[in-house]
Amino acid sequence: MIRTEVMDQPLETIRKPNGDLIGRGVIANLYKWPSHRKLTICFIGGTRSLRSKIAAAMQRQWHLHQLTRGNLDYNAASFSDLADCGAAASPNYDIRVGFLHGAYGGYWSYIGVDSRNHVPSMNFEGFDSNAPAEPDFDRLVAHEFGHALSLEHEHQSPMVPPCDWNYDYIYTHYSWQSPADMHANLDKLKNYVYNGKYLYSFTTYNKKSIMHYYFEPLAFVKGRNSKCYILQNNNVPSEEDKTFITQQYAPATFGGFRGLDTSLEDLSRIPNARLQQVIATKRQLLRDAER
Ligand SMILES: [Zn+2]
Repeated sequence: MIRTEVMDQPLETIRKPNGDLIGRGVIANLYKWPSHRKLTICFIGGTRSLRSKIAAAMQRQWHLHQLTRGNLDYNAASFSDLADCGAAASPNYDIRVGFLHGAYGGYWSYIGVDSRNHVPSMNFEGFDSNAPAEPDFDRLVAHEFGHALSLEHEHQSPMVPPCDWNYDYIYTHYSWQSPADMHANLDKLKNYVYNGKYLYSFTTYNKKSIMHYYFEPLAFVKGRNSKCYILQNNNVPSEEDKTFITQQYAPATFGGFRGLDTSLEDLSRIPNARLQQVIATKRQLLRDAER
């Protein structure tokens, strides 16, 4: 099952530029990569051919340079080297791709800059023994890389209508680490506010998003009538997904719309060790960006 760690991350609401909002999505501002970063990548396991296929799918599905007008990009050397992650800390790598089975199996990714705190930061169970065929290969890579760009699940948007999940069915028919793990990947994000600011960036609900799960009708109490039921998997980032990345990462003069970042000083007062680790990572990356 596709899953990701979703924690109580402080985010920021989106202001509409000129009242005009075309892109749609949900994103974690604190977790967003600083401007001008060129993302690096490393792997734990997998043949060179598999690594190359994954790296190519990322770049094919998310044209970062074009979407962000160069504000966020792939590091060409790293995406050509396809290096081993090496030592556990891997300070030189942003995205660390693994193929774990068992307790940490499944398809998942940490969110944005938090990727730098984990090895692996993104997992594709079984790809190293029997990778799925298209369109599933590209779909899974595009979805997990969306998380690495700080995108959250669209079906968890604060704007999502009631999904009527059939939790018993979903828990029984898919593999989850725990009920909490399932709920962390399905339930509406808590739309809480910190210091007068929304903690999540979000727009109106977009059922075409690559960040939206597909489940068969039995997974919903209301079957096909559930407001979160979609006819089939979304295999590629939607136009709204791509525009949303532009709004979030591109310079304002090119249609970018950053919103107000919740201040790191404010957030640093929240007593949550994992949150503080992310804040430290973000601060380090911001310092690096100034050099
Ligand atoms: Zn996901």
